[in-house]
Amino acid sequence: MKLKRTLVYSLALACAIYPSSVGYAASPYLSYGDENGRVSVNIKGSGSTYSWSSIVSESVSAWNNSRANVYINEKSTSKNSVVITDFPDSWYGLNRSISNSYGYITKYTIYVNGRTIVANARNVHSFIKSTITHEFGHVFWLCDNPVTGQESIMKHTRDRNSMTLPQQYDIQNVNKMYK
Ligand SMILES: [Zn+2]
Repeated sequence: MKLKRTLVYSLALACAIYPSSVGYAASPYLSYGDENGRVSVNIKGSGSTYSWSSIVSESVSAWNNSRANVYINEKSTSKNSVVITDFPDSWYGLNRSISNSYGYITKYTIYVNGRTIVANARNVHSFIKSTITHEFGHVFWLCDNPVTGQESIMKHTRDRNSMTLPQQYDIQNVNKMYK
């Protein structure tokens, strides 16, 4: 089965979606996502940001306790991971997914950039949580900057210092994928 790699960067200033072959996706969706909304994840950290692992768990709970029909299971043996460390790049969070020809993710890795978050956050805790909750949104098909007047965790204009949960709009869109 043909696999494709897709990167979604959450940049400090702008966003670029690195395309994935010929797939076309329209707001609010990417051309790929998890098949059934049940995913596992292994949380990894290093250096001074290792303590952020507990905040990843808060983002996991934010989705699990929402009305979205999804479930994220923390499991140390999972091939999927959240990796927290300092990267030299400008993004806050990054989702690297591999998907199959149906668009279903076969493996994803979420990277969290301690360096840019510490440099730009007013509320570091909320900023981290907002970033990770957003990156999990990509796992559930949601694209960056959906075209809507409603609040969304996927918008780069959201205040990461205060918005940490999937919003009603996000939950509705996820639930259209997982009926
Ligand atoms: Zn994003």
